[in-house]
Amino acid sequence: MGLITLENVSKIYGEDVRALDNVDLEIKEGEWVSVMGPSGSGKSTMLNLIGCMDTPSKGIVKIDDIDISELDKKELTKVRREKIGLVFQQFHLVPYLTAVENIMVAQYYHSMADEKEAKQALEKVGLGHRANHLPKELSGGEQQRVCVARALINYPKLILADEPTGNLDKENENIVLDLFEELHTNGHTIMMVTHDPKVGKLAERQINLDHGQL
Ligand code: ADP
Ligand code: ADP
Repeated sequence: MGLITLENVSKIYGEDVRALDNVDLEIKEGEWVSVMGPSGSGKSTMLNLIGCMDTPSKGIVKIDDIDISELDKKELTKVRREKIGLVFQQFHLVPYLTAVENIMVAQYYHSMADEKEAKQALEKVGLGHRANHLPKELSGGEQQRVCVARALINYPKLILADEPTGNLDKENENIVLDLFEELHTNGHTIMMVTHDPKVGKLAERQINLDHGQL
């Protein structure tokens, strides 16, 4: 059984924009999958469905055996918080909170904020010494590592990343990709959207979208 299952999934915006067209997909626990394809091919749409930010127009999306296709906004949010860690191209850190506080906010939505545990998460991404810095005091690569720590804090089954190195220079890109390699080695399930074939090739499996089809 897959951690993620899509059965005959279509997403239609408005009357006739078929962003995803009859997609079948299964991703097993522990897999690292990259999603590639040209702009407008449906990558963001697929990520939004799997990330429980939207529901399909047709078909079934299952996350950890939960059919999310018919859930309302509140129920989707609950599944997302329990199962999924999100990493974005734009880091989406709260600018007036320190690195450790940004992680505690994510913890708070799940259970209780715990500063010690939040600090340990920063240590795992090599940023223990930056815990009390504001995002603007961190490099792009450091900010993205804070985001990875934040994504991991609630022990999600799945890490979803949307162009996680899109805003980084070469050196920081390598640091963040090394971190994803390590997460994969430790058994995390990763799904990463990327434009960059070099990044996509690091995954053990590549999915290519074209006009909403696999
Ligand atoms: P990328 O190709 O980098 O994934 P896009 O430019 O396709 O980004 O999309 C950026 C965001 O804009 C996405 O969240 C997507 O859902 C939204 N979007 C894309 N096209 C449209 C559209 N025609 N109408 C409304 N929102 C759109
Ligand atoms: P990608 O991420 O690969 O760039 P998207 O999933 O953002 O692709 O978009 C797939 C198609 O759906 C595109 O034609 C885009 O313009 C359209 N689209 C995406 N989001 C919306 C939206 N919210 N409303 C209308 N059309 C959209």
